[in-house]
Amino acid sequence: MSELPYAYEAPGSQSLFDRAAAVTPGGVNSPVRAFRAVGGTPRFMVSGSGPYLTDADGREYVDLVCSWGPMILGHAHPEVIAAVQQAVSRGTSFGTPGEGEVALAEEMVGRIEPLEQVRLVSSGTEATMSAIRLARGFTRRTKVIKFAGCYHGHVDSLLAAAGSGVATFALPDTPGVTGAQAGDTIVLPYNDLEAVQEAFHRHPGEIACVITEASPGNMGVVPPLPGFNQGLKDACGKNGALYISDEVMTGFRTSRAGWYGIDGVGPDLMTFGKVMGGGFPAAAFGGRADVMAHLAPAGPVYQAGTLSGNPVATAAGLAQLRLLDEAAYDRVDAVSAQIQALVTEALTKEGVAHRMQNASNMFSVFFTDRAVRDYEDAKKQESFRFTAFFHSMLAQGVYLPPSSFESWFVSTAHDERAVQRIADALPAAARAAAEATA
Ligand code: PLP
Repeated sequence: MSELPYAYEAPGSQSLFDRAAAVTPGGVNSPVRAFRAVGGTPRFMVSGSGPYLTDADGREYVDLVCSWGPMILGHAHPEVIAAVQQAVSRGTSFGTPGEGEVALAEEMVGRIEPLEQVRLVSSGTEATMSAIRLARGFTRRTKVIKFAGCYHGHVDSLLAAAGSGVATFALPDTPGVTGAQAGDTIVLPYNDLEAVQEAFHRHPGEIACVITEASPGNMGVVPPLPGFNQGLKDACGKNGALYISDEVMTGFRTSRAGWYGIDGVGPDLMTFGKVMGGGFPAAAFGGRADVMAHLAPAGPVYQAGTLSGNPVATAAGLAQLRLLDEAAYDRVDAVSAQIQALVTEALTKEGVAHRMQNASNMFSVFFTDRAVRDYEDAKKQESFRFTAFFHSMLAQGVYLPPSSFESWFVSTAHDERAVQRIADALPAAARAAAEATA
Protein backbone atom coordinates (compact mmCIF):
# COMPACT_ATOMS: atom_id res chain seq x y z
CA MET A 1 0.00 0.00 0.00
CA SER A 2 3.04 2.29 0.10
CA GLU A 3 2.09 3.89 -3.26
CA LEU A 4 -0.78 5.70 -1.51
CA PRO A 5 -0.19 9.46 -1.19
CA TYR A 6 -0.01 9.74 2.57
CA ALA A 7 1.71 6.49 3.43
CA TYR A 8 5.07 6.92 5.05
CA GLU A 9 7.49 4.20 5.89
CA ALA A 10 6.34 1.78 8.55
CA PRO A 11 8.38 -1.33 7.69
CA GLY A 12 7.60 -3.19 10.92
CA SER A 13 3.85 -2.72 10.54
CA GLN A 14 4.03 -3.41 6.81
CA SER A 15 5.79 -6.72 7.28
CA LEU A 16 3.26 -7.79 9.96
CA PHE A 17 0.42 -6.65 7.70
CA ASP A 18 1.81 -8.75 4.83
CA ARG A 19 1.99 -11.79 7.11
CA ALA A 20 -1.50 -11.08 8.43
CA ALA A 21 -2.99 -10.69 4.96
CA ALA A 22 -1.80 -14.21 4.09
CA VAL A 23 -3.71 -15.82 6.95
CA THR A 24 -6.55 -13.38 7.76
CA PRO A 25 -9.02 -11.75 5.33
CA GLY A 26 -7.84 -8.20 4.68
CA GLY A 27 -5.12 -8.69 7.29
CA VAL A 28 -7.27 -7.64 10.25
CA ASN A 29 -9.75 -9.12 12.68
CA SER A 30 -12.17 -6.19 12.55
CA PRO A 31 -12.62 -4.23 9.29
CA VAL A 32 -12.14 -0.61 10.36
CA ARG A 33 -8.66 -1.42 11.69
CA ALA A 34 -7.51 -1.92 8.08
CA PHE A 35 -7.22 1.79 7.19
CA ARG A 36 -9.28 1.19 4.04
CA ALA A 37 -11.14 4.49 4.50
CA VAL A 38 -7.95 6.53 4.80
CA GLY A 39 -5.42 4.41 2.91
CA GLY A 40 -1.94 3.39 3.99
CA THR A 41 -0.56 0.70 6.23
CA PRO A 42 -2.43 0.01 9.46
CA ARG A 43 -0.15 0.41 12.44
CA PHE A 44 0.44 -2.79 14.39
CA MET A 45 0.70 -1.85 18.04
CA VAL A 46 2.99 -3.73 20.38
CA SER A 47 2.31 -1.94 23.68
CA GLY A 48 0.28 0.71 25.39
CA SER A 49 0.96 2.81 28.45
CA GLY A 50 -1.29 5.59 29.75
CA PRO A 51 -2.31 7.77 26.77
CA TYR A 52 0.33 6.28 24.45
CA LEU A 53 0.60 3.38 22.02
CA THR A 54 3.87 2.12 20.55
CA ASP A 55 3.91 0.47 17.12
CA ALA A 56 6.01 -2.28 15.60
CA ASP A 57 8.51 0.33 14.37
CA GLY A 58 9.01 1.71 17.87
CA ARG A 59 7.04 4.88 17.10
CA GLU A 60 4.93 6.31 19.93
CA TYR A 61 1.48 7.81 19.38
CA VAL A 62 -0.96 9.72 21.57
CA ASP A 63 -3.96 7.41 21.37
CA LEU A 64 -7.32 9.04 20.62
CA VAL A 65 -9.03 5.73 19.90
CA CYS A 66 -8.57 4.06 23.30
CA SER A 67 -9.46 0.64 21.83
CA TRP A 68 -12.68 2.22 20.46
CA GLY A 69 -13.75 3.27 23.93
CA PRO A 70 -12.84 0.72 26.60
CA MET A 71 -9.52 2.21 27.79
CA ILE A 72 -11.00 5.12 29.73
CA LEU A 73 -8.22 4.92 32.34
CA GLY A 74 -5.52 4.73 29.67
CA HIS A 75 -3.45 1.67 28.79
CA ALA A 76 -2.03 -0.71 31.38
CA HIS A 77 -3.49 1.09 34.37
CA PRO A 78 -1.56 -0.39 37.32
CA GLU A 79 -4.65 -1.21 39.43
CA VAL A 80 -6.48 -2.86 36.55
CA ILE A 81 -3.36 -4.86 35.66
CA ALA A 82 -2.96 -5.94 39.30
CA ALA A 83 -6.59 -7.12 39.44
CA VAL A 84 -6.09 -9.07 36.22
CA GLN A 85 -2.88 -10.66 37.47
CA GLN A 86 -4.54 -11.75 40.69
CA ALA A 87 -7.50 -13.20 38.80
CA VAL A 88 -5.29 -15.01 36.29
CA SER A 89 -3.28 -16.61 39.06
CA ARG A 90 -6.48 -18.21 40.40
CA GLY A 91 -7.39 -19.78 37.04
CA THR A 92 -8.84 -18.39 33.85
CA SER A 93 -12.23 -20.03 33.33
CA PHE A 94 -14.36 -22.38 35.38
CA GLY A 95 -17.65 -22.77 33.53
CA THR A 96 -19.42 -22.30 36.86
CA PRO A 97 -20.80 -19.19 38.53
CA GLY A 98 -18.24 -17.10 40.44
CA GLU A 99 -18.18 -14.13 42.77
CA GLY A 100 -16.52 -11.76 40.26
CA GLU A 101 -19.53 -11.78 37.96
CA VAL A 102 -21.90 -11.07 40.86
CA ALA A 103 -19.73 -8.15 41.99
CA LEU A 104 -19.58 -6.70 38.49
CA ALA A 105 -23.35 -7.01 38.05
CA GLU A 106 -23.88 -5.36 41.47
CA GLU A 107 -21.58 -2.48 40.52
CA MET A 108 -23.50 -1.91 37.28
CA VAL A 109 -26.95 -2.20 38.84
CA GLY A 110 -25.85 0.15 41.63
CA ARG A 111 -25.01 2.88 39.12
CA ILE A 112 -28.06 2.81 36.87
CA GLU A 113 -31.53 2.91 38.40
CA PRO A 114 -33.54 1.29 35.56
CA LEU A 115 -30.98 -1.52 35.39
CA GLU A 116 -32.58 -4.01 37.78
CA GLN A 117 -30.90 -7.16 36.48
CA VAL A 118 -28.09 -7.89 34.03
CA ARG A 119 -26.88 -10.91 32.09
CA LEU A 120 -23.17 -10.92 31.22
CA VAL A 121 -21.99 -11.85 27.72
CA SER A 122 -18.70 -11.48 25.85
CA SER A 123 -19.28 -8.80 23.20
CA GLY A 124 -21.51 -5.86 22.44
CA THR A 125 -22.84 -7.75 19.43
CA GLU A 126 -23.95 -10.60 21.66
CA ALA A 127 -25.57 -8.11 24.03
CA THR A 128 -27.71 -6.42 21.36
CA MET A 129 -28.53 -9.73 19.65
CA SER A 130 -29.72 -11.19 22.95
CA ALA A 131 -31.66 -8.08 23.94
CA ILE A 132 -33.55 -8.17 20.62
CA ARG A 133 -34.34 -11.85 21.08
CA LEU A 134 -35.58 -11.19 24.60
CA ALA A 135 -37.73 -8.27 23.43
CA ARG A 136 -39.28 -10.45 20.75
CA GLY A 137 -39.81 -13.31 23.20
CA PHE A 138 -41.32 -11.01 25.80
CA THR A 139 -43.68 -9.12 23.48
CA ARG A 140 -44.34 -12.06 21.13
CA ARG A 141 -43.89 -9.65 18.25
CA THR A 142 -41.38 -9.73 15.38
CA LYS A 143 -40.52 -6.28 14.06
CA VAL A 144 -37.65 -4.11 15.25
CA ILE A 145 -37.12 -0.40 14.62
CA LYS A 146 -33.53 0.79 14.27
CA PHE A 147 -32.05 4.04 13.00
CA ALA A 148 -29.87 4.61 9.95
CA GLY A 149 -26.27 5.22 11.01
CA CYS A 150 -26.66 3.47 14.36
CA TYR A 151 -24.40 0.45 14.72
CA HIS A 152 -25.31 -2.27 17.16
CA GLY A 153 -22.62 -4.81 16.31
CA HIS A 154 -22.80 -7.29 13.45
CA VAL A 155 -26.15 -8.81 14.40
CA ASP A 156 -27.71 -10.09 11.13
CA SER A 157 -31.02 -8.29 11.55
CA LEU A 158 -29.32 -5.03 12.55
CA LEU A 159 -26.87 -4.82 9.65
CA ALA A 160 -29.19 -2.60 7.70
CA ALA A 161 -28.06 1.01 7.23
CA ALA A 162 -25.59 0.54 10.08
CA GLY A 163 -22.80 2.98 10.93
CA SER A 164 -19.18 2.30 11.96
CA GLY A 165 -17.28 -0.01 9.56
CA VAL A 166 -20.44 -0.51 7.54
CA ALA A 167 -20.66 3.25 7.06
CA THR A 168 -16.99 3.42 6.19
CA PHE A 169 -17.40 0.85 3.46
CA ALA A 170 -20.79 2.15 2.36
CA LEU A 171 -22.24 -1.34 2.20
CA PRO A 172 -25.98 -0.87 1.84
CA ASP A 173 -26.51 -4.42 3.08
CA THR A 174 -24.06 -7.20 3.59
CA PRO A 175 -24.18 -10.40 1.55
CA GLY A 176 -24.99 -13.25 3.91
CA VAL A 177 -27.88 -11.51 5.63
CA THR A 178 -31.06 -12.98 4.18
CA GLY A 179 -34.19 -11.07 3.27
CA ALA A 180 -35.96 -12.92 6.07
CA GLN A 181 -33.39 -11.77 8.66
CA ALA A 182 -33.51 -8.13 7.57
CA GLY A 183 -37.19 -8.15 6.60
CA ASP A 184 -38.42 -7.57 10.13
CA THR A 185 -36.13 -4.59 10.61
CA ILE A 186 -37.60 -1.16 10.00
CA VAL A 187 -34.83 1.40 9.39
CA LEU A 188 -35.77 5.02 10.11
CA PRO A 189 -33.87 8.31 9.94
CA TYR A 190 -32.25 9.24 13.25
CA ASN A 191 -33.71 12.10 15.30
CA ASP A 192 -37.05 11.81 13.45
CA LEU A 193 -39.86 11.12 15.91
CA GLU A 194 -42.54 11.56 13.27
CA ALA A 195 -41.08 8.65 11.32
CA VAL A 196 -41.26 6.53 14.48
CA GLN A 197 -44.89 7.41 15.11
CA GLU A 198 -45.73 6.70 11.49
CA ALA A 199 -44.03 3.26 11.69
CA PHE A 200 -46.05 2.34 14.80
CA HIS A 201 -49.16 3.50 12.95
CA ARG A 202 -48.38 1.35 9.91
CA HIS A 203 -47.55 -1.79 11.94
CA PRO A 204 -50.05 -1.97 14.80
CA GLY A 205 -49.24 -4.71 17.31
CA GLU A 206 -46.19 -5.89 15.30
CA ILE A 207 -43.26 -3.91 16.69
CA ALA A 208 -41.36 -5.69 19.48
CA CYS A 209 -38.87 -2.94 20.20
CA VAL A 210 -37.06 0.20 19.18
CA ILE A 211 -33.28 -0.07 19.52
CA THR A 212 -31.18 3.07 19.42
CA GLU A 213 -27.67 4.07 20.40
CA ALA A 214 -28.20 6.04 23.62
CA SER A 215 -26.25 8.80 21.89
CA PRO A 216 -24.86 7.68 18.54
CA GLY A 217 -21.13 7.52 17.97
CA ASN A 218 -20.98 5.25 14.94
CA MET A 219 -21.79 7.81 12.23
CA GLY A 220 -19.46 10.21 13.99
CA VAL A 221 -20.93 11.76 17.11
CA VAL A 222 -24.58 12.71 16.52
CA PRO A 223 -26.34 13.29 19.83
CA PRO A 224 -30.11 12.91 20.19
CA LEU A 225 -32.05 16.15 19.81
CA PRO A 226 -33.69 17.28 23.05
CA GLY A 227 -36.72 15.08 23.70
CA PHE A 228 -35.84 12.43 21.10
CA ASN A 229 -35.05 9.59 23.53
CA GLN A 230 -38.02 10.50 25.72
CA GLY A 231 -40.20 10.50 22.61
CA LEU A 232 -38.97 6.99 21.75
CA LYS A 233 -39.72 5.78 25.25
CA ASP A 234 -43.22 7.31 25.14
CA ALA A 235 -43.98 5.87 21.69
CA CYS A 236 -42.84 2.41 22.85
CA GLY A 237 -44.90 2.64 26.06
CA LYS A 238 -48.00 3.70 24.16
CA ASN A 239 -47.67 0.89 21.61
CA GLY A 240 -46.66 -2.04 23.83
CA ALA A 241 -43.07 -2.19 22.49
CA LEU A 242 -39.83 -2.20 24.47
CA TYR A 243 -37.37 0.67 24.34
CA ILE A 244 -33.80 -0.63 24.11
CA SER A 245 -31.00 1.82 24.72
CA ASP A 246 -27.67 0.59 23.35
CA GLU A 247 -25.05 1.91 25.77
CA VAL A 248 -22.21 -0.29 24.51
CA MET A 249 -20.24 2.84 23.60
CA THR A 250 -21.69 5.44 25.98
CA GLY A 251 -22.11 3.17 29.02
CA PHE A 252 -19.83 4.14 31.94
CA ARG A 253 -18.03 6.51 29.56
CA THR A 254 -20.27 9.54 29.15
CA SER A 255 -20.93 9.61 32.90
CA ARG A 256 -20.91 7.32 35.95
CA ALA A 257 -24.28 6.02 34.76
CA GLY A 258 -23.54 6.36 31.04
CA TRP A 259 -25.95 8.30 28.82
CA TYR A 260 -28.79 7.47 31.20
CA GLY A 261 -26.88 9.56 33.76
CA ILE A 262 -27.13 12.49 31.33
CA ASP A 263 -30.63 12.36 29.86
CA GLY A 264 -32.36 10.38 32.63
CA VAL A 265 -34.61 8.53 30.17
CA GLY A 266 -35.07 5.05 31.64
CA PRO A 267 -35.21 2.30 29.01
CA ASP A 268 -36.85 -1.15 29.33
CA LEU A 269 -33.59 -2.83 28.27
CA MET A 270 -30.02 -1.60 27.93
CA THR A 271 -26.87 -3.05 26.40
CA PHE A 272 -23.28 -2.56 27.52
CA GLY A 273 -19.72 -3.47 26.51
CA LYS A 274 -16.40 -1.64 26.07
CA VAL A 275 -15.68 0.26 29.37
CA MET A 276 -17.33 -2.39 31.58
CA GLY A 277 -14.79 -4.99 30.34
CA GLY A 278 -11.67 -2.98 31.22
CA GLY A 279 -10.09 -4.02 27.90
CA PHE A 280 -11.29 -7.63 28.07
CA PRO A 281 -14.21 -9.28 26.27
CA ALA A 282 -17.06 -8.55 28.68
CA ALA A 283 -20.45 -7.09 27.79
CA ALA A 284 -23.97 -7.24 29.17
CA PHE A 285 -27.62 -6.59 28.62
CA GLY A 286 -30.19 -5.90 31.28
CA GLY A 287 -33.06 -3.77 32.49
CA ARG A 288 -36.53 -4.35 33.89
CA ALA A 289 -36.60 -7.38 36.17
CA ASP A 290 -39.99 -8.53 34.84
CA VAL A 291 -38.57 -8.59 31.30
CA MET A 292 -35.28 -10.22 32.33
CA ALA A 293 -37.31 -12.93 34.12
CA HIS A 294 -38.16 -14.28 30.67
CA LEU A 295 -34.54 -15.28 30.14
CA ALA A 296 -33.36 -18.89 30.61
CA PRO A 297 -33.11 -20.53 33.09
CA ALA A 298 -35.66 -18.28 34.84
CA GLY A 299 -37.83 -18.11 31.71
CA PRO A 300 -38.23 -19.55 28.21
CA VAL A 301 -36.02 -17.23 26.08
CA TYR A 302 -32.73 -19.07 25.55
CA GLN A 303 -29.37 -17.36 25.88
CA ALA A 304 -25.99 -18.75 27.02
CA GLY A 305 -22.19 -18.47 26.74
CA THR A 306 -19.16 -20.65 27.64
CA LEU A 307 -17.06 -17.62 28.59
CA SER A 308 -19.88 -15.35 29.84
CA GLY A 309 -18.84 -13.73 33.12
CA ASN A 310 -15.25 -14.90 32.62
CA PRO A 311 -13.32 -14.37 35.89
CA VAL A 312 -10.41 -12.46 34.34
CA ALA A 313 -12.65 -10.20 32.25
CA THR A 314 -14.95 -9.47 35.17
CA ALA A 315 -11.98 -8.69 37.44
CA ALA A 316 -10.67 -6.19 34.87
CA GLY A 317 -14.08 -4.61 34.37
CA LEU A 318 -14.80 -4.36 38.08
CA ALA A 319 -11.40 -2.82 38.84
CA GLN A 320 -11.92 -0.27 36.07
CA LEU A 321 -15.46 0.65 37.15
CA ARG A 322 -14.43 1.04 40.78
CA LEU A 323 -11.79 3.56 39.75
CA LEU A 324 -14.33 5.54 37.75
CA ASP A 325 -15.59 8.00 40.33
CA GLU A 326 -16.88 11.53 39.70
CA ALA A 327 -13.33 12.92 39.76
CA ALA A 328 -12.33 10.53 36.96
CA TYR A 329 -15.26 11.67 34.78
CA ASP A 330 -14.43 15.32 35.51
CA ARG A 331 -10.92 14.63 34.29
CA VAL A 332 -12.04 12.87 31.08
CA ASP A 333 -14.62 15.60 30.37
CA ALA A 334 -12.04 18.35 30.90
CA VAL A 335 -9.37 16.81 28.66
CA SER A 336 -11.98 16.09 26.01
CA ALA A 337 -13.14 19.73 26.07
CA GLN A 338 -9.53 20.90 25.84
CA ILE A 339 -8.80 18.75 22.77
CA GLN A 340 -12.09 19.73 21.11
CA ALA A 341 -11.20 23.40 21.55
CA LEU A 342 -7.70 22.89 20.13
CA VAL A 343 -9.02 21.07 17.05
CA THR A 344 -11.68 23.72 16.46
CA GLU A 345 -9.14 26.51 16.80
CA ALA A 346 -6.67 24.92 14.37
CA LEU A 347 -9.30 24.18 11.71
CA THR A 348 -10.87 27.63 12.06
CA LYS A 349 -7.48 29.27 11.65
CA GLU A 350 -7.00 27.47 8.33
CA GLY A 351 -10.54 28.32 7.21
CA VAL A 352 -11.62 24.66 7.05
CA ALA A 353 -15.40 24.21 7.17
CA HIS A 354 -16.11 21.84 10.03
CA ARG A 355 -18.50 20.93 12.84
CA MET A 356 -17.20 19.68 16.14
CA GLN A 357 -19.96 17.55 17.70
CA ASN A 358 -19.87 16.02 21.14
CA ALA A 359 -21.88 13.89 23.51
CA SER A 360 -20.34 14.46 26.91
CA ASN A 361 -16.66 13.48 26.46
CA MET A 362 -17.20 11.62 23.16
CA PHE A 363 -16.61 13.84 20.14
CA SER A 364 -15.86 13.89 16.44
CA VAL A 365 -15.23 16.40 13.67
CA PHE A 366 -17.33 16.54 10.53
CA PHE A 367 -15.81 18.33 7.58
CA THR A 368 -18.96 20.25 6.69
CA ASP A 369 -20.41 23.62 7.65
CA ARG A 370 -23.83 22.21 8.62
CA ALA A 371 -25.00 20.61 11.85
CA VAL A 372 -25.14 16.82 11.52
CA ARG A 373 -28.41 15.40 12.84
CA ASP A 374 -28.64 12.09 11.02
CA TYR A 375 -26.80 9.66 8.79
CA GLU A 376 -27.70 11.51 5.57
CA ASP A 377 -26.10 14.67 6.97
CA ALA A 378 -23.04 12.69 8.11
CA LYS A 379 -22.52 11.26 4.63
CA LYS A 380 -22.41 14.77 3.12
CA GLN A 381 -19.13 15.67 4.86
CA GLU A 382 -15.92 16.12 2.86
CA SER A 383 -14.26 12.92 4.03
CA PHE A 384 -11.21 13.55 1.82
CA ARG A 385 -10.26 16.38 4.19
CA PHE A 386 -10.38 13.96 7.10
CA THR A 387 -8.02 11.62 5.20
CA ALA A 388 -5.41 14.36 4.87
CA PHE A 389 -5.92 15.46 8.48
CA PHE A 390 -5.66 11.86 9.76
CA HIS A 391 -2.38 11.12 7.97
CA SER A 392 -0.78 14.35 9.06
CA MET A 393 -1.70 13.62 12.67
CA LEU A 394 -0.47 10.03 12.33
CA ALA A 395 2.84 11.16 10.88
CA GLN A 396 3.25 13.49 13.87
CA GLY A 397 2.49 10.79 16.45
CA VAL A 398 -1.23 11.17 17.09
CA TYR A 399 -3.44 8.14 16.46
CA LEU A 400 -7.00 9.09 15.40
CA PRO A 401 -9.79 6.69 14.46
CA PRO A 402 -9.04 5.80 10.83
CA SER A 403 -12.45 6.90 9.57
CA SER A 404 -14.53 10.09 9.70
CA PHE A 405 -17.54 8.06 10.85
CA GLU A 406 -16.13 7.28 14.29
CA SER A 407 -16.01 8.93 17.69
CA TRP A 408 -12.69 9.99 19.21
CA PHE A 409 -12.02 8.78 22.75
CA VAL A 410 -9.85 10.12 25.56
CA SER A 411 -8.91 8.84 28.99
CA THR A 412 -7.97 9.98 32.48
CA ALA A 413 -4.35 9.35 31.45
CA HIS A 414 -4.32 12.05 28.76
CA ASP A 415 -2.09 14.49 30.59
CA GLU A 416 -0.52 17.82 29.65
CA ARG A 417 2.32 16.23 27.71
CA ALA A 418 -0.11 14.19 25.60
CA VAL A 419 -2.34 17.21 24.97
CA GLN A 420 0.70 19.29 24.02
CA ARG A 421 1.69 16.65 21.43
CA ILE A 422 -1.80 16.99 19.93
CA ALA A 423 -1.63 20.79 20.01
CA ASP A 424 1.74 20.74 18.26
CA ALA A 425 0.47 18.43 15.53
CA LEU A 426 -2.75 20.29 14.78
CA PRO A 427 -1.54 23.31 12.73
CA ALA A 428 0.06 21.13 10.02
CA ALA A 429 -2.89 18.71 10.04
CA ALA A 430 -5.37 21.55 9.67
CA ARG A 431 -3.31 22.93 6.79
CA ALA A 432 -3.32 19.49 5.14
CA ALA A 433 -7.12 19.37 5.53
CA ALA A 434 -7.43 22.85 4.00
CA GLU A 435 -5.25 21.95 1.03
CA ALA A 436 -6.82 18.52 0.40
CA THR A 437 -8.69 17.91 -2.82
CA ALA A 438 -11.38 15.31 -3.51
N1 PLP B 1 -23.29 -1.28 19.99
C1 PLP B 1 -22.59 -0.14 19.84
C2 PLP B 1 -23.25 1.17 20.12
C3 PLP B 1 -21.25 -0.20 19.46
O1 PLP B 1 -20.57 0.94 19.30
C4 PLP B 1 -20.66 -1.46 19.21
C5 PLP B 1 -19.25 -1.56 18.79
O2 PLP B 1 -18.62 -0.62 18.41
C6 PLP B 1 -21.43 -2.61 19.40
C7 PLP B 1 -22.74 -2.49 19.79
C8 PLP B 1 -20.85 -3.96 19.17
O3 PLP B 1 -19.91 -4.27 20.16
P1 PLP B 1 -18.77 -5.36 19.90
O4 PLP B 1 -17.84 -4.76 18.91
O5 PLP B 1 -18.19 -5.58 21.25
O6 PLP B 1 -19.46 -6.58 19.37
